[in-house]
Amino acid sequence: MERIGAHSHIRGLGLDDRLEPRETSQGMVGQAKARKAAGMILKMVQEGRIAGRAMLFAGPPSTGKTAIALGMAQTLGPDVPFTMIAASEVFSLSMSKTEALTQAFRRSIGVRIKEETELIEGEVVEIQIDRSLTGATKTGKLTIKTTDMETIYDLGNKMIDALSKEKVTAGDVIAIDKTSGKITKLGRSFARSRDYDAMGADTKFVQCPEGEIQKRKEVVHTVSLHEIDVINSRTQGFLALFAGDTGEIKPELRNQINAKVAEWREEGKAEIIPGVLFIDEVHMLDIECFSFLNRALENELAPLVIMASNRGKARIRGTNMISPHGLPADLLDRVLIVSTSQYSKEDIEQIIKIRCEEEDVSLTPEAMAILSNLATETTLRYVLNLISCAQMLARKRKAEAVGEQDVRRAYDFFFDEKRSVQYIQEAGMSLVT
Ligand code: ATP
Repeated sequence: MERIGAHSHIRGLGLDDRLEPRETSQGMVGQAKARKAAGMILKMVQEGRIAGRAMLFAGPPSTGKTAIALGMAQTLGPDVPFTMIAASEVFSLSMSKTEALTQAFRRSIGVRIKEETELIEGEVVEIQIDRSLTGATKTGKLTIKTTDMETIYDLGNKMIDALSKEKVTAGDVIAIDKTSGKITKLGRSFARSRDYDAMGADTKFVQCPEGEIQKRKEVVHTVSLHEIDVINSRTQGFLALFAGDTGEIKPELRNQINAKVAEWREEGKAEIIPGVLFIDEVHMLDIECFSFLNRALENELAPLVIMASNRGKARIRGTNMISPHGLPADLLDRVLIVSTSQYSKEDIEQIIKIRCEEEDVSLTPEAMAILSNLATETTLRYVLNLISCAQMLARKRKAEAVGEQDVRRAYDFFFDEKRSVQYIQEAGMSLVT
């Protein structure tokens, strides 16, 4: 059986190249302004222009705050760390609140480490050719897809020839026909893989020579600062990474690791990739956590922090102060606030449709009409939950599609919040204990 998560239909933000939201794309529907704002922030993250900043998605329940954050994660791709926590996770017996937040921060900072390894046949390699062999005055790099070292040397030699005869300069791309050895100069703009593919398998391309032919290949992998912490923590050991039970990590160890990473950066062995930390239900954090956040955002190694809250005015936990979204003024002051709004009926229908496709459910038009009406009266999430319940009931009566009666029965079995409260009130039970 395939399990389907609440957000499994979300595959990105559904924006075009100009960051304009497509009406329905990558599982995303409506909420155009918030999606565009999220896309703009992402662009800045991708260009490395934004870190140590915070944004807040504020809006009523079920308006897609989490969905948009997940869309952002999908757009960033697997190499940029994205950590998601619910604020309540910070409160645990096994570690202090600030330690939990520190770990979440460090999980969201990637370290891209470069290592050199021996060449493996058939891989794309970077070859550099000694300029003293060519007599060429300009130098550069060369990229060849090859299967063995002989081909590499052969192509290298042909390129040396080309350099002297064709006056190829740094940055130029030349094509070498593998069988005839014919060399064509293609110019600088010929650098996209699409162009390479179009020339067919018998042609090899090289881009500007430099240094000596290297037999080594650079391997790059990305780990998070937190992973480096855990692996180096003698009390924990790297197995703790799998168990998820990492306990507290000593500040001295973190300082050492920061120093080491700074050293690697200086030597050109590592690069810092600031990622994203998403804190859902951020009003659940308390004043100490907020003060920690304020400070941590100033740190050089801080990720982009995205928070979400469905509260309007709320008490700041740990104080008696009421504040917008339950956040203290100094933190609010530094966040970019993006609001999400209630969906239109068309948007709701579209989201229900996408979820039905995801869950492999067919709805009759009547069932769709009831569900979308219900979503405006209750919440979108409640209605999305009803789909699978109604499907079960439809299956029981051996129907192909979920009909009106299945939705009604599911609605009867499972209460939304409003009805549940009303039921308790009518039953004379106390609402507050
Ligand atoms: P809360 O404040 O209660 O945490 P939220 O704003 O985070 O709510 P989500 O959990 O993102 O709301 O949305 C509820 C459900 O609706 C999820 O299954 C989500 O994937 C889906 N959904 C919300 N907005 C969209 C959208 N714009 N496009 C597609 N699906 C959406």
